[in-house]
Amino acid sequence: MFNALLVNKDEDSGKTSAAVTQIGLDDLPHGDVTVSVDYSTVNYKDGLCIGPGAGLVRKYPHVPGIDFAGTVEESADARYKPGDRVVLTGWRVGEAHWGGYAQKARVNADWLVPLPEGLDARAAMAVGTAGLTAMLAVMALEDHGLQPGHGPVLVTGAAGGVGSVATAILAGLGHEVAAVTGRPEQEDYLRGLGASRIVARNELTEVSRKPLESEMWAGCVDAVAGAMLGRVLKQMKYGASVAAIGLAGGAAIEGALITPFILRGVNLLGIDSVMQRYDNRVRAWTRIARDLPMDKLESMVQPATLGDLPQLGADILKGRVKGRVVVDVNA
Ligand code: NDP
Repeated sequence: MFNALLVNKDEDSGKTSAAVTQIGLDDLPHGDVTVSVDYSTVNYKDGLCIGPGAGLVRKYPHVPGIDFAGTVEESADARYKPGDRVVLTGWRVGEAHWGGYAQKARVNADWLVPLPEGLDARAAMAVGTAGLTAMLAVMALEDHGLQPGHGPVLVTGAAGGVGSVATAILAGLGHEVAAVTGRPEQEDYLRGLGASRIVARNELTEVSRKPLESEMWAGCVDAVAGAMLGRVLKQMKYGASVAAIGLAGGAAIEGALITPFILRGVNLLGIDSVMQRYDNRVRAWTRIARDLPMDKLESMVQPATLGDLPQLGADILKGRVKGRVVVDVNA
């Protein structure tokens, strides 16, 4: 038997409850690789899956945890053998399939990636889904022409998980990073990650009726969407790109929207880390191991145990978590 954070739903009230519970290998879902999990993390989606479910969880009881890193224990797939170090993000693990909030997980071999050279399981989860998404966003901006020296790159939701890693990666690559935050007390933290400028959230959340504003940003990694994205699009430089990764500030984009695309050739790139092809995931993890300053990564980490997860799930939905929560499932 081993520990797992099991979420149950009361069918009458519709309320969910989460508790650390002992389960066995026979309880795990089908899959061709069984992994002894070392670390998992807390992402925004985990908050939803620990709490209200938000339509992501198909069946209860449920084990959330959309990412994990660990060691292969048993494998029916020739690509993996016991002892191999692996990392998993995406593929609806932790949503439609039991995830990383347990000491063991069983998954399809196709969803795994070998741990890249230079990253151990803890560092891989300090990066986690948020960091992988940040790297995919940076790669998309580069594919659309962004290079250091083009001008300031804006990161929204900067003190959150994706924003923190995006700030550190971009600064490490030599970009001038402007970090948008609603938490002024996080200024030192963000400057420590490499941000050269801090922009107050409320400077960008007011809806502007102007069709365009002064050209300011050479690129943007946007975790927030909502009113802020509507505003940022009008401030992008000619031909620049916004990599939109999340909607922590709301799903609707407001304002006179079409002008930045027609009059400035701005690109809006949607980034999805969930269904990423194997070769792209390997490319992104390799870039993370090479380009993310590891000394910066440690300053983002808040350690946690399985027992801390119900509270942390509620906190991340309220935008109260700083950086990356790394869950030691064996603590
Ligand atoms: P976090 O909660 O760690 O960070 C989100 C940040 O957004 C907060 O820390 C806060 O930053 C800011 N924020 C929160 N609420 C608001 C608001 N109402 N208005 C403006 N800013 C706000 O989440 P993650 O970084 O893990 O994820 C961010 C988003 O990206 C989520 O929507 C998540 O679902 C999505 N996501 C998408 C992925 C993909 O594959 N596309 C993968 C991973 C996440 P600050 O305090 O600095 O202002």
